Amino acid sequence: MRIETQCLHEGYTPKNGEPTVLPIYQATTYKYDSTAHVGKLFDLQEEGCTYSRMANPTVQAVEKKIAALEGGVGALCTSSGQAAILIAVLNILNAGDHIVSAAAIYGGTVNLFAVTLKRLGIDCTFVDADASEEEIQKAFRPNTRLVYGETIANPAIAVLDIEKLARVAHRNKVPLLVDNTFATPILCRPFEHGADLIIHSTTKYMDGHSIQLGGVIVDSGNFDWAAGGYDCLTQPDPSYHGVTYTQQFGSSAYITKARVQLMRDFGAYPTAQDAFLLNLGLETLPLRMERHCRNAEAIARFLTTCEKVEGVNYPTLEGNPYRELAKKYLPKGCSGVISFSLKGGREQAARFIDNLKLAMLAVHVADARTMVLHPATTTHRQLTDEQILAAGITPGLVRLSVGLEHVDDIIADLAQALEKA
Ligand SMILES: *Cc1c(COP(=O)(O)O)cnc(C)c1O
Repeated sequence: MRIETQCLHEGYTPKNGEPTVLPIYQATTYKYDSTAHVGKLFDLQEEGCTYSRMANPTVQAVEKKIAALEGGVGALCTSSGQAAILIAVLNILNAGDHIVSAAAIYGGTVNLFAVTLKRLGIDCTFVDADASEEEIQKAFRPNTRLVYGETIANPAIAVLDIEKLARVAHRNKVPLLVDNTFATPILCRPFEHGADLIIHSTTKYMDGHSIQLGGVIVDSGNFDWAAGGYDCLTQPDPSYHGVTYTQQFGSSAYITKARVQLMRDFGAYPTAQDAFLLNLGLETLPLRMERHCRNAEAIARFLTTCEKVEGVNYPTLEGNPYRELAKKYLPKGCSGVISFSLKGGREQAARFIDNLKLAMLAVHVADARTMVLHPATTTHRQLTDEQILAAGITPGLVRLSVGLEHVDDIIADLAQALEKA
């Protein structure tokens, strides 16, 4: 099946007389015919549900679908994107270990890596992902156990050279984990470029309607955990009566452990309701991504012609530093997220946003409706102009998440608000 067909048909196949749509199994608990069967489930010798903290049939259908979309061997849904990153990391890292991460990543992930994981004894070095392999190599230590980056960085809109990072990671016998939230598997499939693990905030385009918060971890099944010395996967797990994940589950070792050990212990599994809503979003994802990209491309070009606009950041524009990487990794488009700067700074940008009629002021991106955010008066409000510049943002910067409205209506709204700014 091609990806458009997978979005509709993977994960759930109704049998004779069953509902055409994925049913919501609103259940925490499951019934068995024999103790022998339950025994097999608890020994992980048979697939099935024991408790909805680790697995639920509605959520599992969505996991199968997302695993297929990314071309992985398995997936685990989580209750948020942040939970997906936390579990993905802690599944293979212990206190004393080290992460090499691209510096241009989501602010929430920077906090997780720089502050919270540090408290747990895991260090992170942030590197310029645009630097040479030799330069990035310098950040590695003997205890480095993971490389991390975002396909399209939020909010910098930088495109990651996935193949370069995979080469550096693999030379050090370390897996590459890619946050593919903005690209979605429709625009980029990181496993085809050497990534080993993927996470998504499904809160964004996969949902697309601002109705559920969620995340997912996908395992390519390609990484050689034994060669890398990942004892937590290749040695018996005392918390699961001595199971050795690589021995019993082969290429699905990583994702199986994430579910049966960490999800069991942390309990950040999504509800069946939320998985149902996410599945609705996934069904139309290819159509929506195509339109988000087409609208964003036209709007980025329109903004470059506006006198009050200082600079427009969208990877397909002439002169954008990520144009070549975008051609290689994102040939179908670069998502709906654009950033641009207004001349005149903080006040001018605020006036522009306050005059928008169609585009909504919201702390969100990747929705069907066009949304704007002004970092200098919201997320970066406490900072002075000098501090904002040091964070790589200008006081007049506006982040625009282009929606699915008719492009002429969005352009008309932007034009009238620019007039008043
Ligand atoms: C939003 C976001 C996250 C965090 O996801 P939540 O679902 O909000 O927890 C992680 N990575 C990226 C790129 C995001 O945009």
